[in-house]
Amino acid sequence: MDMKEGFGEVRDRVALAAKRASRQPNEVTIVAVTKTWPAEIVVAAYNAGMRHFGENRAEELDEKRPLVEAELGPKSGIHWHAIGALQSRKTKFVAENADTFHALDRLKIANRLSNHIMENEPDQEKALRVFIEVNVSGEASKAGLDCNQWEDDETQREKLLNLARTTAELPGLVPVGLMTMAPWQVEESVIRRVFERTRRLSEWLQGQLPESEWTQLSMGMSDDFEIAIEEGATHIRVGRAIFGPRILE
Ligand SMILES: *Cc1c(COP(=O)(O)O)cnc(C)c1O
Repeated sequence: MDMKEGFGEVRDRVALAAKRASRQPNEVTIVAVTKTWPAEIVVAAYNAGMRHFGENRAEELDEKRPLVEAELGPKSGIHWHAIGALQSRKTKFVAENADTFHALDRLKIANRLSNHIMENEPDQEKALRVFIEVNVSGEASKAGLDCNQWEDDETQREKLLNLARTTAELPGLVPVGLMTMAPWQVEESVIRRVFERTRRLSEWLQGQLPESEWTQLSMGMSDDFEIAIEEGATHIRVGRAIFGPRILE
């Protein structure tokens, strides 16, 4: 598949989904997920007009970004998104390379990211934007903070509130919002419900912490981004619908 065509089609579908929800298409950032694809593909995607790129493995981001910058320079205007779950021994890769992290799920990771950033960039110029990843579907295979019963379970709400409050106070991090993943291969109504419940959780969180801005929603991938936009997504993370199937995974 031609990525320029793929990106054009995704943009058209974003615009239609936004319209159905009485939203503006420019409220939705399309993060082009380039995991498994080499740096040349990122450069080609840049030349086709893409500016937001997502990688799920911290080491892959650490390898790819310098290669892309060797081609396009450090001021290309690319915004790098680290979208995958992160182990604490790999926080350095994300702190050094990402502009936005989508998968924060515990305080230890938040502290380590903030410390790396303050060591390297104490002027806060490179503060890392973070989404907290919440597991609303309850699927065991999904990463993220357990929020599958958040409406009824005060402990789950308190844990999220705690992580959000403490993260917002860390000098190297900037609160952005919540991220979630819907289950795969289930009915549309089930997917929609996960996105809707994540949006409600985000509204609840904003009510609890009006002084920090956990306002954005990272949700929706190739197979479900239109539903996510209808339910309020501000960031969608799309790989296959732009670049075609991944060969290596
Ligand atoms: C791979 C990945 C995506 C994109 O998936 P596609 O199905 O290719 O659109 C989105 N988010 C995360 C966290 C991923 O790992």
